Amino acid sequence: MDLTFNAQETAFRDEVRAWFAANDPGPEPQHDEDAHYAWRREFQRRLAEGGLAAVHWPKAYGGRDATLTESAIFFEELGRSGAPLPANVLGLLLAGPTIMTWGTDEQKDRHLAPILTGDEIWCQGFSEPDAGSDLASLKTKAVRDGDDWVITGQKVWTSGAQYSKWCMLVARTDQDAPKHKGLSYFLMDMEQDGVQVVPLRQITGDPEFNELFIEEARIPGENLLGGEGNGWKVALTTLMNERAGLGFFLQVRLRQLVDALYEEAASSGQLDDPRVADALADLHIRTEILRLTAYRGLSVIEQYGQPGPEGSLVKWLWSETNQILTQLAPSIVGPDALTAGNPWSFELLRARGNTIEGGTTEILKNIVAERVLGLPRAGRS
Ligand SMILES: Cc1cc2nc3c(=O)[nH]c(=O)nc-3n(C[C@H](O)[C@H](O)[C@H](O)COP(=O)(O)OP(=O)(O)OC[C@H]3O[C@@H](n4cnc5c(N)ncnc54)[C@H](O)[C@@H]3O)c2cc1C
Repeated sequence: MDLTFNAQETAFRDEVRAWFAANDPGPEPQHDEDAHYAWRREFQRRLAEGGLAAVHWPKAYGGRDATLTESAIFFEELGRSGAPLPANVLGLLLAGPTIMTWGTDEQKDRHLAPILTGDEIWCQGFSEPDAGSDLASLKTKAVRDGDDWVITGQKVWTSGAQYSKWCMLVARTDQDAPKHKGLSYFLMDMEQDGVQVVPLRQITGDPEFNELFIEEARIPGENLLGGEGNGWKVALTTLMNERAGLGFFLQVRLRQLVDALYEEAASSGQLDDPRVADALADLHIRTEILRLTAYRGLSVIEQYGQPGPEGSLVKWLWSETNQILTQLAPSIVGPDALTAGNPWSFELLRARGNTIEGGTTEILKNIVAERVLGLPRAGRS
């Protein structure tokens, strides 16, 4: 595909770049997760005021009807500016598009606007202690009671649940149906006694994600999304958007880290060491491949109307390259990179989770093997 921007794309890039230059998010709060989250939330509010919170959404819902290339440009410019990801990133990239695809007019009217402004934050209640990669084996139960559904079960690794008003919840509504067919997708209000959020502290020290203990929580029938028993298909819409959406932002952030490490090596005379030069060249090439692969994924979406399995390739390449980079950093930056509070040590520790969240590398390799390369299915049920 031709990667040269046309006049409209160039104008859009200049507009977005100018907006970010004029809207500095201010200093990033350090060592205080709540303050950090509030900073991201405030920045999302400003993005929404500027009409830029979700450029990929239709104009009718407060977006810009941006083309795929424009949407990629937006994330590239966001990454380049150093601004944070919007606080409600799961709402903007996952819940919003899933509601647009499967929701009733009432659900769209009720939920899309507060997602855009960040007034209502969303989390993703998919994984359970015994259901991660094999999501369809989840056990959280939804039982009909009059017009409501009553939910009981446990979710885990629920990122941002502590700030969330709503949860994209997948639960089992039919115990007897085959496992993929007995699921339904709900929009669950987190603000009720039946939902308890318990933080889980990561190796970085941050409690970024949580356990959800759900004991007879109630969900009104109108908050079922996509129909009873259709939860697997609705969840796939969410998962496809998850892997496709962030690609451009992540590859730009990776490029910034590679460049920062290169500067460290250059300023300390380490580029003369062929081992360092080789390692940085490898990272440079990987990052460039990632950028081109992310753009190639756009042509798939243009062809089929929704993200395809290629998003899995981008996520796998990015998480692997980010780990190689963050493991190399201490040998260039020096021992400081391993001390608590140093940004490189945070990156090193956080990079471990990247190969698990949003689909583990093994699962992504299976998807790429079967659905991109057309290899035979791995032997599993
Ligand atoms: C930082 C972070 C944030 C997260 N946020 C959320 C969130 O907001 N909401 C949410 O619902 N979940 C979230 N998750 C959970 C994430 O989706 C799961 O951890 C992931 O799907 C893997 O599931 P699991 O942990 O149960 O591991 P398992 O599925 O038990 O896998 C264990 C190991 O077995 C391998 N494996 C499993 N099946 C296969 C197979 N068929 N072929 C080859 N290898 C296989 C896996 O690759 C892995 O190495 C988050 C995870 C992390 C790390």
